Order: sequence, then C-alpha cells, then structure tokens
Amino acid sequence: MARILDVQCKCGYLLFRYYKAGKGRLIKCMIDRLTDDFVGIKGAATHSRPLCPSCKKELGIVMMIHGKPALKLNQGTITPIRL
Ligand SMILES: [Zn+2]
Repeated sequence: MARILDVQCKCGYLLFRYYKAGKGRLIKCMIDRLTDDFVGIKGAATHSRPLCPSCKKELGIVMMIHGKPALKLNQGTITPIRL
C-alpha cells in the first residue's frame, strides 16, 4: 500500500511529492522518497530548517533517521493530508 502524496504549505504552495508507504499520518518524510522537490530539500544539511519558498515559514527540520536523512514536518505549516 503505497501512494504518491502532494504535500502543500498552508499558503498553498506545492512543496514536494512524496512516495508514502503504509497508513497513518505523515509525520516525517524520508528525503530519498521525495519524487518531486520544489523546495530544495534534497541535499539540505542535517538540522537545517527548510523554508517555504513562497511564505518563508519553516517546514520542519532535517534529521537522520536510521542513518538516512528525513524531514520531520512542522505540522503547523504543512497542509494536513487525509488518508
Ligand atoms: Zn508557504
């Protein structure tokens, strides 16, 4: 059970598309599973905080999870996704 999700900022900007496996709320994104990256998250440094290119709000923080870079999402900035 996997699908491509559109992840948007609350301002309406399309941030990235994400290949999500499994059910449940989107809490963090493994960066190697972004299929389109309109922000420049790929290659961002660990502990950096990518911003929405449109409204400049923080999207979350980049961290290492199981040895791979991931973006832990700021739930207040991204548009909640119904599954
Ligand atoms: Zn925005």
